Amino acid sequence: MQTASPTLPMLQIQNFINGEFVPPAAGRYLDNVEPATGLVYGQIPDSDAADVARAVEAAQAALPGWRALPAEKRGLLLVRIADLIEQNLEQLAQAESRDNGKPVALARVVDIPRAASNFAFFGTGVSHFASETHFQEGVALNYTVRHPLGIVGCISPWNLPLYLFTWKIAPALAAGNCVVAKPSEVTPATAYLLGELCQQAGLPPGVLNIVHGTGPGAGQALVEHPLVKAISFTGGTKTGEHIARTAAPMFKKLSLELGGKNPNLIFADCDLAAAVSTSIQSSFSNQGQICLCGSRIFIERPIYEQFKAAFLARVAGLTVGDPQEAGSKQGALVSEAHLLKVQSYIELARQEGGTLLAGGQRVQLAGRCVGGFFLQPTVFEGLAPDCRTNREEIFGPVVTLTPFDTEAEALDWANGTDYGLSATIWTRDLDRAHRVAHQLHAGVVWINTWLLRDLRTPFGGMKNSGVGREGGLEALRFFTEAQNVCVKL
Ligand code: NDP
Repeated sequence: MQTASPTLPMLQIQNFINGEFVPPAAGRYLDNVEPATGLVYGQIPDSDAADVARAVEAAQAALPGWRALPAEKRGLLLVRIADLIEQNLEQLAQAESRDNGKPVALARVVDIPRAASNFAFFGTGVSHFASETHFQEGVALNYTVRHPLGIVGCISPWNLPLYLFTWKIAPALAAGNCVVAKPSEVTPATAYLLGELCQQAGLPPGVLNIVHGTGPGAGQALVEHPLVKAISFTGGTKTGEHIARTAAPMFKKLSLELGGKNPNLIFADCDLAAAVSTSIQSSFSNQGQICLCGSRIFIERPIYEQFKAAFLARVAGLTVGDPQEAGSKQGALVSEAHLLKVQSYIELARQEGGTLLAGGQRVQLAGRCVGGFFLQPTVFEGLAPDCRTNREEIFGPVVTLTPFDTEAEALDWANGTDYGLSATIWTRDLDRAHRVAHQLHAGVVWINTWLLRDLRTPFGGMKNSGVGREGGLEALRFFTEAQNVCVKL
């Protein structure tokens, strides 16, 4: 593999263990590729069980001090990290864009601010985390104590690297646990920078440890470590299944946020301009690499042609370009392997009889990005609702348009996959909005909007999209063990 530039220093990432940056025990490194150029621009530790063991040891030593700190003091440290993320927003956004291929403009307004919010939210939220009492008049008083679990493992994917990494780490730390975390090997840069910010914030050594490496290497060792009491995982459904198989016999607590194949239901009475505009976002944001993207768009027949024309006009304006350039609406896909996977689904859609309405081709840019992994935003119609293209997660800039005639038909098709993460409904009919929402097999339903988040709400999927919920008190409950104490009166 060629390197980005012989004159630029390579980004050499190290593990963050016990408050220090350390090389992997075995001294092995993996190449880190910039998706926009296809070139190696850095190296990351290829950590193994020895590195995970070292991180767990550091976490174990830090645990008594960290869990004994009053919640407000832990919270203040997390808020300090949030402030530092905000102060370093530009550097983090640049790093995220370079590592992942997403437009830097997106990282500036979504990824990095939301990572800061995660720390600020749980840093302050933990002070409001109350436990229950159950009073039996004249008999007994029961009260619930919520103990931190101890050492927990957090494993995150490459699509929203810092955003999803912090979404797990912040509640785990707030609840009084020490953490060993593994970011995706494909996008390690902002997790590495987070270690520096934790040092600056004065987070005690060993409270947060970040071990880089592959899933089967470092990830598997983390899941298998006997002192790691819980695994909070976000990633693919197949990986989640594998992790559950490893962790369940060890009686570890598990939170699994997995894949999606989300429906976007457009009813004829909707605000069409708003539906089109937001559907462009929900289809192609982050090159369609968001688990919440609505890749199956079902449109009520009377407005099908109108929606299609307006949607395609907007797709034509989605400039694919260098993620560093302000005018680029679409960046690169995260890796060559992922690009090939998405392209194979475009081929499948053709074979399944789909009509290509837009895109479908790899984009060859000039200059710096000549070797980048770019793909046109792609739209198909004419596919059966139950074909593989409409059932399997593609996780790229590919959507299908399908007309429907009745609410029952739309619901049937929307629910016709093994996934159940999120759904979007566009209608002005309030009764229908609630009626349809309640019948959708989706853990998150948006009505006349998309990706609007309130961090207090439960977040997670039904069916093969996951087990458990993140967000707000749900996350603090996950990262604690409830103990009931009964006092006889
Ligand atoms: P993967 O499942 O491939 O990887 C997720 C993480 O798990 C990575 O850090 C990976 O490491 C690690 N991993 C892989 N194998 C193991 C193992 N045996 N033991 C422990 N850890 C392991 O997912 P992707 O990174 O490809 O992310 C895309 C997927 O994530 C999509 O399916 C998407 O829908 C889902 N997702 C779900 C979300 C949700 O909230 N429900 C949100 C965002 C994404 P490495 O990368 O180093 O191999």
